[in-house]
Amino acid sequence: MATHEPRSDMTSSIVNHILVVEDEQDTAFFLKTLLEEHGFHVSLAKDGGQAHSSFTMHKPDFVILDLIMPQESGFEICEHMKQRESEVPILILTAIDLPESRQLASRVGADGYLLKPFDPDELLALIREIADDVWEQEHLTDQRAQAEERVQFFCHCGKKLRVRSKHRGRTMTCPACNEPLIVPLHD
Ligand SMILES: [Zn+2]
Repeated sequence: MATHEPRSDMTSSIVNHILVVEDEQDTAFFLKTLLEEHGFHVSLAKDGGQAHSSFTMHKPDFVILDLIMPQESGFEICEHMKQRESEVPILILTAIDLPESRQLASRVGADGYLLKPFDPDELLALIREIADDVWEQEHLTDQRAQAEERVQFFCHCGKKLRVRSKHRGRTMTCPACNEPLIVPLHD
C-alpha cells in the first residue's frame, strides 16, 4: 500500500499524519480507528481552536474536515489553513449535499468534498487521489499552466476537478469514478 512506501520516494505524495476535525465523537473515533488500521497516524480536533493548534504543532500532511462545528465553521478553518500551508490537502467530509456548499468549499481552497455517510474504501481511495493531485499541482505544474484560467468544481464522488474555462458547459468523464459530468457554466 502507498502509505507504507518509504518517504524517500519523492515522485509522489505520501500521507502519513492525518488531522481529523470533527465535533461528533462517534464519527471522529470511527475515522481514527479506520485510518489507523490503514497505517496512518491520526490526530483529532473537535473545534477550530484545537484544529489550528494541532495543525501548527503536529504538521499533518492531510486534513479531513467537517463543516458544521461550534464557533469557527469548516469553511473558515479551511480558508485559514490554506492561507498558512497551501500544500496540505484538505478533504471536506459532510452531510451537506448542496451546490452552494460545494462552491464555497472550492472557493476556500478545499481539495475534495465527500458526503456522509461515506464508504470507507471510497474515503481511503480519495485520500490518495487528492494527495497526489495536490502534490502534482505544487510540484509538477509549470507556471504558465498555473496562470491559465481554470474552473474548479467537485464531482459527486468527492474529487476536485480543474479544467480550462473554455470547457464550461461541456460533458466530461471524471478520472476518479468514470461517471459523466458537466463542467458548470457559472461559479
Ligand atoms: Zn467522480
